[in-house]
Amino acid sequence: RGIVSPGADLEERDLEGALRPRLLADFVGQDRVREQLSLVLNGARNRGRAPDHILMSGGPGLGKTTLAMIVAAELGAPLRITSGPAIERSGDLAAVLSTLQEGEVLFLDEIHRMARPAEEMLYVAMEDFRVDVMVGKGPGATAIPLDIAPFTLVGATTRAGLLPAPLRDRFGFTAHMDFYAAADLELIVRRSARLLGVELEDDAAAEVARRSRGTPRIANRLLRRVRDYAEVRGDGRLDLRVARAALALYEVDERGLDRLDRAVLDALLRRFRGGPVGLSTLAVSVGEEPETVEVVAEPFLVRAGLIARTPRGRVATPEAWEHMGVEPPPGPTP
Ligand code: ATP
Repeated sequence: RGIVSPGADLEERDLEGALRPRLLADFVGQDRVREQLSLVLNGARNRGRAPDHILMSGGPGLGKTTLAMIVAAELGAPLRITSGPAIERSGDLAAVLSTLQEGEVLFLDEIHRMARPAEEMLYVAMEDFRVDVMVGKGPGATAIPLDIAPFTLVGATTRAGLLPAPLRDRFGFTAHMDFYAAADLELIVRRSARLLGVELEDDAAAEVARRSRGTPRIANRLLRRVRDYAEVRGDGRLDLRVARAALALYEVDERGLDRLDRAVLDALLRRFRGGPVGLSTLAVSVGEEPETVEVVAEPFLVRAGLIARTPRGRVATPEAWEHMGVEPPPGPTP
């Protein structure tokens, strides 16, 4: 995977404890979400009750896990973490739900990838704090209702649209996480540099922020690569020159596009003459899973104004031709 792939890497997991903001006040950016969440949490705290279930939707690396941890920390509640793919049968979910403590926060990452039968069990658990445990098989099977402790579900998904409506409706609040503004990423990069004990010059921080695809996880990763470069190839100074050289080495371009982004754009421009072309066709032509292109590359390229979505498929914008240095075909662009 490339340097700007938004999935977590090993080194990041090591540093996670150090860099992850622990309280809402340390969480940078996403102002609206922060304000909404703070109301939900304070309301619940005042009433002495567990808050409504919370859904977080947004691309990888935008801080969904971090926010879930913050929810638990702010409530002073224990946190249990699991994910949709880990729940293959309803029994897997029953095992988690029936061992929750009162007020516990259950973080269910990639909730859209949970097995269907488990979904139904989750509806009942969310609404009535009850699990129906099936005993026996076939016509003689019976459901034995089991009360579970009131808990708060924090679900995370990269694609809220994939959730069945009955599940979506059972969340009291949905936090829509968007790409971060460059100024917020700059604050994140400076904060991380401080926590890592490295001295980062202001214009270097701005450069790293600008090239981070609006994503804190990528910002932190690029910062670590710049630090390596400064320590190994330079004299340890993290200035603009070093930042640029390191980012060039890792093939992150001036706008933060990585290999995959550029491959997608390149295919769109050269092979499909700027489109329109369907997303899955585009994914196949760059040898990637359609989901990766849809969740990782495309949202950023659209946000950057390089790709536009049309009813007939994806098209390149004039900026895309210019950025990639490819001559558009003669005649009006589609
Ligand atoms: P995934 O769905 O891929 O797990 P995620 O959306 O859950 O991604 P996190 O793991 O929460 O993302 O965040 C990635 C990293 O970015 C964290 O290690 C954290 O240090 C940092 N981070 C995220 N959001 C913020 C923020 N608002 N301020 C500072 N750091 C942040």
